[in-house]
Amino acid sequence: MTSLVVQTSFLGDMVLTTPLLDRLARRGPVDVVATPQSAPLLAGHPAVRDVIVYDKRGMASGMRGLMRTAASLRTRANGEPRGVSVAYLAQGSFRSATLVRLAGITNRVGFETSAGRRLYTRAIPFDRSLHHAERLWQLASVDDESPTGRLHPRLYPSPNDHAAAASLLASAGVAPGAPMLVLAPGSVWTTKRWPHFRSLAIALATDPRTSRARLVILGSAADSGIARTIADGLQSISVPLPIDATGRLPLLGSAALLQRAGAIVTNDSLPLHLASAVGTPTVALFGPTVPSMGFGPLAPTSEALGVERLECRPCHAHGPNACPLGHWRCMEELSVARVIDAVADVMRVTR
Ligand code: SF4
Repeated sequence: MTSLVVQTSFLGDMVLTTPLLDRLARRGPVDVVATPQSAPLLAGHPAVRDVIVYDKRGMASGMRGLMRTAASLRTRANGEPRGVSVAYLAQGSFRSATLVRLAGITNRVGFETSAGRRLYTRAIPFDRSLHHAERLWQLASVDDESPTGRLHPRLYPSPNDHAAAASLLASAGVAPGAPMLVLAPGSVWTTKRWPHFRSLAIALATDPRTSRARLVILGSAADSGIARTIADGLQSISVPLPIDATGRLPLLGSAALLQRAGAIVTNDSLPLHLASAVGTPTVALFGPTVPSMGFGPLAPTSEALGVERLECRPCHAHGPNACPLGHWRCMEELSVARVIDAVADVMRVTR
């Protein structure tokens, strides 16, 4: 039985879809519709047969693009019929549902809360109490099945990805196996960016529990400004400067780098999910969002921190551009001392 999974949401959502892909691969070939940004995450994934890139905001926008993409869901690049039996709408827009219907896929499964639900042939509950990886996994449930253990997203960096990460570290003088700590201070959403990464870096570089580890700043090119701010903070205390990896690695190269790290400190953003997929001990910092929304860390060793007993939390599905109350206490009051204790905790556990 051939399955098609439509996942055109954020990069982190694609990582959290991988347990569903593993599950479906036990039933037959699995093809995935992805955005140009998230498609590279699935390179080399053993559960995936084809990735169909749907550039819904670019080359394939509008009705013509939808029709063209629908045609590619019927026929593979080599001209063979794709033969999809069931489409799983991991992304719930009306456009995604229309796409699979136009492709003539007769079984369409998605969440009953999704905008595209009227076009589904089977709608399942969106259980807000579950981790999102499990919610997605349940799209393929026959009855009220639950996973037998914690779900683990998986990504598969290639030898080239490992080589890119190794080369970046080697050029900064980090030998294979040398202790390393990753900081991921970025997020698309402003209020999810914890404002104390610079102070944390100084504390990590001077605390005897963590000072042996070389700091690496991970993120997109958009995070290079905060990486410079962190480096400036360390310049004054005569310790090795952090390695600025922002914008310098492909997505799976970042995952390969994380595989070598002793731990990561990250906002509620993509690096959290990359770390879950490669098992890096994780300290995850939550402000306007909370882990119970379904996006907490899944690495075997992890801690999620946030300011508890703050009545306004959570205030937004993603994180507003500015704190609606003006004080931003959910992030301002999350202390460096708490974070560094959590880092020492997760690093104590042998991987
Ligand atoms: S309203 Fe509360 S949870 Fe939302 S950003 Fe402000 S402090 Fe954070």
